[in-house]
Amino acid sequence: MKKIATGVMVASLLLSGVAIASDHGHDHGKEHKGHWGYSGDTGPAHWGDLKDSYFMCKEGKNQSPIDINRVIEADLPKLDITYAGNSVSVVNNGHTIKVNTQGKNEIVVDGVTFTLKQFHFHTPSENTVKGEQFPMEVHFVHLDKDGNIAVIGIMFKEGKRNAALDKFLSKLPKEINHVALLDEMFNPGELFPKKLDYYRFNGSLTTPPCTEGVRWIVLKNEVEASKEQLSLMRKVMGKNNRPVQPLNARCILE
Ligand SMILES: [Zn+2]
Repeated sequence: MKKIATGVMVASLLLSGVAIASDHGHDHGKEHKGHWGYSGDTGPAHWGDLKDSYFMCKEGKNQSPIDINRVIEADLPKLDITYAGNSVSVVNNGHTIKVNTQGKNEIVVDGVTFTLKQFHFHTPSENTVKGEQFPMEVHFVHLDKDGNIAVIGIMFKEGKRNAALDKFLSKLPKEINHVALLDEMFNPGELFPKKLDYYRFNGSLTTPPCTEGVRWIVLKNEVEASKEQLSLMRKVMGKNNRPVQPLNARCILE
């Protein structure tokens, strides 16, 4: 009896070891269950089958990204945003370039305060607007005190050099999962356009586990980045956009 119990314990330790490796070891995770990517056998069409906990990627009815179309006019409140903190470090985690933030960077949505945790990029854009895809999209990921998620998406178009992008692109580590501190911390609001008009809808994380219940805000106005900056981002991240998902019963407000 004791032997069986020990065997079970070893097996469960091994299993939990695999789970940890697949969640955090993207650079050497190919052989692990749960490894996901953007093409081939581990691409978006297969995410829901890679791991039990990814089931929403195939079963969900409120998935992101979407094509922003059939918009309903509503009296949306002015975006309530107070970014007073900083961007502090940058990492290429193998899926995206992610910038970690700290301090009081807050938005209020539906009367609830959400704090910015990080922002990251997709090339090309994930959400599209009336069928139009943009060369890049940034996602600002916020959490409230209960762990609910609110994301602000901003589109990039090719144009002038973007000073805020240079502040972390020049610091980006060559190796995957190495975190580099920024010499010059900057306010994440520097990446925002002047006008903050937005679309509002419900959706999900656009990466496994594709969790739903995410409050999505996509700004109507784009920001600019130079051709060189956009191609560098694309070169580092590769193509990392999930295809648009069915809207189903959702409404998009503006
Ligand atoms: Zn994203």
